Amino acid sequence: MLGSMMDRPLLVSSLIEHAARNHGEREIVSRSVEGPIHRYSYAALARRAKQLAHALDRHLGIAPGDRVATLAWNGYRHLELYYGVSGMGAVLHTMNPRLFPDQLAYILNHAADTCLFLDLTFVPLAEALAPSLDTVKAYVIMTDAAHMPATTLPGALCYETLLAGQPDTRPWPPLDERTASSMCYTSGTTGHPKGVVYQNRSTVLHAYAACSVDALAISCRDSILPVVPMFHVNAWGIPYAAAMTGAKLVLPGPKLDGASLHELMEAERVTMSAGVPTVWLGVLGHMRESGERFSTLERVVCGGSAVPRAMIEAFEVDHGVHMLHAWGMTEMSPLGTVCAFKPGMAELPAAERFAIQEKQGRAVCGVELKITDDAGRALAHDGKTFGNLWARGPWVCQAYYKDEGGEAFDDGWFNTGDVATIDAQGYMQVVDRAKDLIKSGGEWISSIEIENLAVGHPAVREACVVAVKHPKWDERPLLLVVPAAGRTIDKPQMLAYLAGRVPNWWLPDEVLVVPELPHTGTGKLIKSQLRAQYRDYILPTA
Ligand code: ADP
Repeated sequence: MLGSMMDRPLLVSSLIEHAARNHGEREIVSRSVEGPIHRYSYAALARRAKQLAHALDRHLGIAPGDRVATLAWNGYRHLELYYGVSGMGAVLHTMNPRLFPDQLAYILNHAADTCLFLDLTFVPLAEALAPSLDTVKAYVIMTDAAHMPATTLPGALCYETLLAGQPDTRPWPPLDERTASSMCYTSGTTGHPKGVVYQNRSTVLHAYAACSVDALAISCRDSILPVVPMFHVNAWGIPYAAAMTGAKLVLPGPKLDGASLHELMEAERVTMSAGVPTVWLGVLGHMRESGERFSTLERVVCGGSAVPRAMIEAFEVDHGVHMLHAWGMTEMSPLGTVCAFKPGMAELPAAERFAIQEKQGRAVCGVELKITDDAGRALAHDGKTFGNLWARGPWVCQAYYKDEGGEAFDDGWFNTGDVATIDAQGYMQVVDRAKDLIKSGGEWISSIEIENLAVGHPAVREACVVAVKHPKWDERPLLLVVPAAGRTIDKPQMLAYLAGRVPNWWLPDEVLVVPELPHTGTGKLIKSQLRAQYRDYILPTA
């Protein structure tokens, strides 16, 4: 027997319609690339998304299913593309401008984007790419006529000129909910980047999950500043979750340093923000140097890399801000787990609370997780046994675009490439990425765990542990540390600090102090590069 409820499709366009109807006056504030702060409302966003959709089909000939690429910061015009492109049934392809130009050209051609929308910042980049692009027919610069630059981009169009005069009414089409809404390529530390194509349905379900109280707890009373870029996994779904609830959105544009972010948080009374640990390092550094305070910030969502305990502690103890640790990936829209407390946990002594917050958290309802050994056998959820972490759920991808990378999928599950434990309460903890684990004498060492302890030393700003070849043990850990501003650190101090905090045989064989470490476009350490660089380093113990 079938139920008799209405079979209404789950569509991205329904989110912006809901926001315009119920929270039409709620503000969206952007730090524009041109400089000034721009403000408007959800009602204005909905109208402009419709104008954009008209411009896309009438003027640019975009049809449902066509891919529309962006090279843009977090700002209101990018948000209009989120809703205008997906709303009309086309596919928004957000690109990470920090990738290498040849990777970007590969991605644009692979997705066969017909149109590229770009912020002023990226005009030189797009000019360099243009000769290698096979399918792009139109370049649209996201600015007004007064700021249009001289450019070699063929037939470059001005965003505001394109929208001007377009009608701001238009019914959104009643798409099949499985219609693609957006796509994003994984950074691809090895091989070519692979495309993940999100659906209207998966995007809406993911937004419901993200808003729920034991996930990100987003409500219309929030003022949210997503530092996580709209060019990476849909800014963790925040643009959709904000429209779903009518939360105020504060978009930081290109200024992502600690001082600029703090200034915007204070001016716009931000209650929640989200970003990778590197961003919070910058913010905490600014707070320490300036002695300033947060007057409205309640919680910070942090993921993308493991969050060190020192960071959880600094936010809580120094600023009274709760750090919400989350885990996910491009292939998962991205939300997989969030570390919300179970009853009683908030009342535990600080050290025990922080130990829980260091875990990546519990699966949000909709996501199922399992850990297995290499033969695919399920492992115990005892918080100690670690194995390959698999996921499935309605916002987890079932294949990459054009069916590449099929080895990551098996029997309806996706192999995340992470190695993790899951405890009896369901809290998952990432031990390492499978390829970053260090195999010493047949036993595994977690690079993440040593790194997170090392950054607890007040003289250390950042740390990275990589495997180095060893004649006797196969691999041994090498620790690279970047000193904190105005501080010094050396090998004996570092080893003395780690001794007793990790098993003796985990202690790095070498500690090198370096001025900086390389990061990916999304702020993560590029371990593959460091591994290659130090692979054959001659350790003092070798
Ligand atoms: P990329 O694959 O390009 O790094 P993703 O954002 O998709 O981009 O990265 C997903 C990976 O990031 C996860 O598989 C995991 O290894 C790592 N990751 C994400 N969140 C966390 C976290 N909270 N703790 C540890 N690792 C994390």
